Amino acid sequence: MHDTGRRRAARALRARSFYVQLLSLVAARWVALQCGVPAGCAFSVVGGRFLVAVPASSVGAVESLQAELDRILWKAHGPTLSIGLAAVTASGDALSNFRAVYEELQQRLGVRKGQRYRSLARSGDLFAPQAVVAAGRACRTCGREAGDGREEDDDGVARRVCAMCASLEELGRELLDSSYLVLREAGAAERGGEAGSA
Ligand SMILES: [Zn+2]
Repeated sequence: MHDTGRRRAARALRARSFYVQLLSLVAARWVALQCGVPAGCAFSVVGGRFLVAVPASSVGAVESLQAELDRILWKAHGPTLSIGLAAVTASGDALSNFRAVYEELQQRLGVRKGQRYRSLARSGDLFAPQAVVAAGRACRTCGREAGDGREEDDDGVARRVCAMCASLEELGRELLDSSYLVLREAGAAERGGEAGSA
């Protein structure tokens, strides 16, 4: 069957929502491990949100974890995808009214959203020169510069797909006839010398 550009793009979008779920899970587990607790302390990973139970002594780490997440996600996705972190400490008694704790967390998360990329702005990464996307060089799915991508015949029109969207299309294709998906920790080489998150 002819694999049309539209069908490929639809598959990339489906794979993208799956990827966002997966990214939340990986980020939640990463936060747990960074705070010195087992990955199982990351719970309630639903709809791109997650909760992680950590010792009160780790709560101060939230700023450095946010800065690290911002750096990794900015590099991978630019402004299209970010994860905000917020933390509250609660006593055992306070936890019995979890709703109040959750509401405070939501409030702090709202403040965080208003300060998106603060760490990147401070480090100057946010203002690093970006390549101007020349006509025909933009990714047909996400619109970002696709110099690293490949060119495809899109129903008679040559269009570029960035490496990220191409890999999501690939994931979408593989998900169609897969029963399992296995997560493993990236090796040092795959991390490219960076702190890994997968
Ligand atoms: Zn793209």
